[in-house]
Amino acid sequence: MRKTPNRSRLPQHLLAPLLLLLLLAALPATLTANMKIHLIDVGQGHASLVEFPCGSLLIDTGGEKTRRWRSGANEDGAKKLSAYLLDFFDTRPHLGSRLDLLLLTHPHLDHTRSVKHVISQYRPHNLVDNGQTTGSGKAGQKALQRYASDTGTPYWYVKTTTFTSAGFTNRVIDPIDCSASGSEDPKISVLWGQTTDPGDWGSNHFDDENNHSIVLRVEWGNASVLFLGDLEEPAIEDLLEKYKTSPELLKADALQVSHHGSANGTTADLVAAVAPHVALIGAGQPCKRKGYSAWTHGHPRTGVIDDLVASTTSARATTSVRVADGVRTFRPYSLDKAIYSTGWDGHVVVELDSSGTLVSVSTDPQPQLCD
Ligand SMILES: [Zn+2]
Repeated sequence: MRKTPNRSRLPQHLLAPLLLLLLLAALPATLTANMKIHLIDVGQGHASLVEFPCGSLLIDTGGEKTRRWRSGANEDGAKKLSAYLLDFFDTRPHLGSRLDLLLLTHPHLDHTRSVKHVISQYRPHNLVDNGQTTGSGKAGQKALQRYASDTGTPYWYVKTTTFTSAGFTNRVIDPIDCSASGSEDPKISVLWGQTTDPGDWGSNHFDDENNHSIVLRVEWGNASVLFLGDLEEPAIEDLLEKYKTSPELLKADALQVSHHGSANGTTADLVAAVAPHVALIGAGQPCKRKGYSAWTHGHPRTGVIDDLVASTTSARATTSVRVADGVRTFRPYSLDKAIYSTGWDGHVVVELDSSGTLVSVSTDPQPQLCD
């Protein structure tokens, strides 16, 4: 009688984990097993990429476009974003050069400048915005909405008044699931968006698109990150009120600090509620540049950094950075908490594993180009 090979030496229940380990060992080094948050250096503005083993989403497509007063040298955030995405998808061919989701937090130009380029290059599978058609970035937001209707790409606009203190999600907002490849299924949900109830804001705050920014929460197992767009104080107060019965939704390992570290974009209560390991600020170098620059707006502000220092739980090697006491007024600040800004650190990549452990933070500091 022919003897069949004896397969019983390796217990069946160990076979799947072993195969998964072998598969992971064979994967290219660029393929992450964790969640990576890329805060892309686009100068004064915002663009963040969240990377998973099986997909990616881009939050905002902004960037600075200014000239320095003395040398006239350009700052071109659109070029920087384009180069970063090109490199990202080149080194991750398994993602097929397509974004699973493109989300615009609100229609301001420093968040929407490159949206047409991003859509044409990376043909997002899903599109989300706050539904507004006003603001300095309205052309970009309208282009996103037009692309959705022209191509039938799934599109959702987020209105705060349509959901409760549980937040909201659906298959457009959360299209990524890596569980088929033995990994996690990220949970992507929105906590804020366009509001139709002015409450006690007053017309100046209600008419400001910043206060209608989408707030996005992304979870990867026990790890989490919160994106606040450019939310300002009136909306932040209402956000804290809305989620006072579900404060766990505001707690996060990583935080995109609202409104580039503006004085009106962060409160001590908010940062205490989030208590992040790492805080991330999308802001330009404080160079003397015409137009919308970190220097003309004084971003990030000293008081905001003080609040972040008080509530951020992880450390970084002590470094001297420049923060603003007011518009056009910067001074050195000694920093030893895990607070990163594109203005100090260039591109920042935060890696969290599914237990919520901060695996690494990498930076790409550029020469300070200020006069
Ligand atoms: Zn902004």
